[in-house]
Amino acid sequence: MENILVLLHVDEAGALPKSAMETVAAGLELSAKVNAALAIGIIGADVNEAAKSVAGTGARLLAVSGPEFGQPRYATDAAAAEALCAKAGATVVLAPAGSRFNRVLPGVAHRLKGAIDTHISGIEATGALTVTRWFYRQRIEAQLQRTARPWLLLLEPGVAPAWQGDAAAANVEAVQVAVPGIRTEVKGIRAPQLDEQTIRPDAKLLFVAGAGWTKKQADGETHVPQAETLIQGFLRATGASLGSSKSLVDQAADQQSVLRFMSHLNQVGQTGATPRHPKGLSTCCHGEEPHVVGWRFITERRAVNLDPNCGWARGKADVLYVADAFEVVEKLNAIMQSRNAAASGS
Ligand SMILES: Cc1cc2nc3c(=O)[nH]c(=O)nc-3n(C[C@H](O)[C@H](O)[C@H](O)COP(=O)(O)OP(=O)(O)OC[C@H]3O[C@@H](n4cnc5c(N)ncnc54)[C@H](O)[C@@H]3O)c2cc1C
Repeated sequence: MENILVLLHVDEAGALPKSAMETVAAGLELSAKVNAALAIGIIGADVNEAAKSVAGTGARLLAVSGPEFGQPRYATDAAAAEALCAKAGATVVLAPAGSRFNRVLPGVAHRLKGAIDTHISGIEATGALTVTRWFYRQRIEAQLQRTARPWLLLLEPGVAPAWQGDAAAANVEAVQVAVPGIRTEVKGIRAPQLDEQTIRPDAKLLFVAGAGWTKKQADGETHVPQAETLIQGFLRATGASLGSSKSLVDQAADQQSVLRFMSHLNQVGQTGATPRHPKGLSTCCHGEEPHVVGWRFITERRAVNLDPNCGWARGKADVLYVADAFEVVEKLNAIMQSRNAAASGS
């Protein structure tokens, strides 16, 4: 008989982010399938609002709270997670994969003499508990079962639809933890301005830029500054997330003209990311990896390419526009700027 713990931490605002709610939904589904008790354990400086937001699940609520548990820190996060797992008597622990838990839960599994698996993309409970995960980026999907308990599972974003329910009064059991020696303190966060931040996991649209943006165009010249202006204008007007082909981000190392806001973090594909957005638009891009692997989790896919014979754009997009992306994006930006201006009344 399994005992399931959904392990969460609050965000900077004291709330539970979308990935936490997805894990809650996965926990509820699993506990119903295997007819197991479900507890939700929350870590944070103040967990009251977070606990209320999931009280409607009917799960047992446990919490480690206090100012020492507000900041992400290995020593305090590990102690809190260990105590919550022990209190719940958990045999299966589900947690959202994020920098905070990715760093700390492998150590917690070791302390508990259990096992951990990361990058979990699905949970099945027909017969024995079985999880799926990707290997070699998203090329090989494996199914895993383990006898070791507790079994900690770090769930990838998008594994389940986020749980939704009204906030309710919460009966939270406080779990006491002896605060370990604290050597690390977060003094502040340095992050790019919001409009410089081009990777936006919650955006409705992924805009993929390929190396064509920096190649010689019909007039025999490159137009990199214009490409930068057009792409940034598009991102501002739509709030889209920016993905790139490998060729484009590799150009910096080759001393070629580059788009300055682009880095390897933007790369999608076999050796890049495979983000999840409802829609994708690929521009000036030919490669197999961005089209086959990079946007495999994108629901509706369109591409703009000058080459009507681009097999990857044609074969892997729902719609291929055979057109000049410079002209298309310029026109799109003009339309969206006038719509946005009309909407804001200016
Ligand atoms: C082991 C391995 C792993 C790899 N992993 C990845 C990966 O993770 N991600 C990845 O992206 N690649 C990866 N690659 C590279 C990949 O195979 C391709 O070489 C690369 O994606 C091609 O990049 P591109 O389409 O941007 O550039 P190009 O192949 O140069 O294509 C440029 C395209 O732009 C179009 N174009 C030019 N001007 C315009 C215009 N004005 N309007 C519209 N279209 C225009 C052209 O018609 C052309 O189709 C990998 C390769 C290997 C061998």
